[in-house]
Amino acid sequence: MRKLDADKLVVASHNAGKVREISALMLPFGVETLSAADLNLPEPVEDGETFIANAELKARSAAEKSGFVALADDSGLVVPALGGRPGIHSARWAINPATGARDFAYGMQKLEDELAADDRTAYFACALSLAWPDGHVESFEGRVNGTLVWPIRGGNGFGYDPMFQADGYDITFGEMDASEKHNISHRANAFKKLIHACFS
Ligand code: IMP
Repeated sequence: MRKLDADKLVVASHNAGKVREISALMLPFGVETLSAADLNLPEPVEDGETFIANAELKARSAAEKSGFVALADDSGLVVPALGGRPGIHSARWAINPATGARDFAYGMQKLEDELAADDRTAYFACALSLAWPDGHVESFEGRVNGTLVWPIRGGNGFGYDPMFQADGYDITFGEMDASEKHNISHRANAFKKLIHACFS
């Protein structure tokens, strides 16, 4: 397992919210973060078949083009009763054909409509990849298991949060305080693994 030996890294995302969240997580380790947008890096096509494959291709591309160590993530909601959908296509699943825009009320309704089975289990997954300019990559996957509820509850968080109740809780991620969600989420879980492995 390679340790992070640099004091700067590129967050391989053009999503400002994600860059802010990752920068805050890196701060205690004395690591300064740059964003892919700051460096004008192109966004690679996410054509991997797994969360890890997509995180790796984003991290590799940013490391190769910038010359800095790069960190990328990929995440989504996996529903076993739907054959693993929406999975890596979670963002796309929520595009409302009537408007062409992402609309999670539409995306959650579509999940409910397709869920004919009694099995309402689901998990959020997050892959994190750290890539070095020499091509070396370390990847980690975090998960949080839960159940899909209907009707949806809560206005906090984003995406599928109002439909997802983590195991051991009686409120959805949409009803949870951000700090509580950030303690138990798939992203937190993946970050704990990354920090344990690559930060001394
Ligand atoms: P990406 O990782 O930016 O490709 O986003 C994947 C998609 O998965 C997001 O647009 C959301 O739809 C969904 N997703 C990922 N993490 C979460 C979460 O913590 N809550 C709710 N939805 C999420």
